[in-house]
Amino acid sequence: MAKPKVGFFDFTCCEGCQIELTNYGSEAFLELIKHIDIVEFREAMSEKAGDLDIAFVEGSFSREADRKRLEDIRKRAKIVIAYGACAATGGINALKNHTTDYKKCVYGKDAEMPHLDSQKALPVSAAIKVDYSVHGCPMDKYELLRIVTHLLHQKEPVIPNYPVCVECKRRETVCRYELGDHCMGQVARAGCGAPCPAQGIPCEACRGFVDNPNEAALKKVLIERAGFSEYRAENKSRMFTANQRSDSK
Ligand code: SF4
Ligand code: SF4
Ligand code: SF4
Repeated sequence: MAKPKVGFFDFTCCEGCQIELTNYGSEAFLELIKHIDIVEFREAMSEKAGDLDIAFVEGSFSREADRKRLEDIRKRAKIVIAYGACAATGGINALKNHTTDYKKCVYGKDAEMPHLDSQKALPVSAAIKVDYSVHGCPMDKYELLRIVTHLLHQKEPVIPNYPVCVECKRRETVCRYELGDHCMGQVARAGCGAPCPAQGIPCEACRGFVDNPNEAALKKVLIERAGFSEYRAENKSRMFTANQRSDSK
């Protein structure tokens, strides 16, 4: 059986997910390339392909000028997978959607340079139909491998829609709140295995929110259990979920 033809594409992002995937010695990547035929991947090769079985798209849709390229990818690919928080939800790029002077802050006197023109940072699904998303910043390469494995076996991939707390409890990690810290695992989408609390740091919801997160309860617990000010509690959840909060819809 011919291997599926796969292409990798990037838009507004740090390309950290590509690096995470191809990291030297990445077992996940070495396993993946045994089963697929990579025909387009700017980071690693100069060839361009035609039709694709799977297109992996990294990065947010943040410039109208990118719409045509995204539509072209959609036309060529049977399956489109948005990988990484930037592509899946807008990720950390979406922070700018809530500020007005971010360009000046970052670029100073060069803020008006034409190549810096952009619109709101949106998920790839704002421009084209996305079939599956691999969440996380960076995405979890083993989850990506699992999704591809399911697809190769004509099985429907399962994307978790329960909170990180479930995985955290499974590995019997002491809750950050019991240690006087904060955490967003109650509303963060699981699938990572809760590595952050296990390493002694809070979950910052890099995989975005579960569907229908209880934002009010999160705010309450951040104030009452972690001692946050109302302002800090309100803004805490913006870092990776700026496009998913109820005040952004
Ligand atoms: S999801 Fe994170 S690591 Fe991946 S491209 Fe976006 S900012 Fe970079
Ligand atoms: S440490 Fe975080 S993820 Fe773990 S149980 Fe507590 S709130 Fe949930
Ligand atoms: S525990 Fe939270 S911050 Fe850490 S990888 Fe999982 S979702 Fe991301």
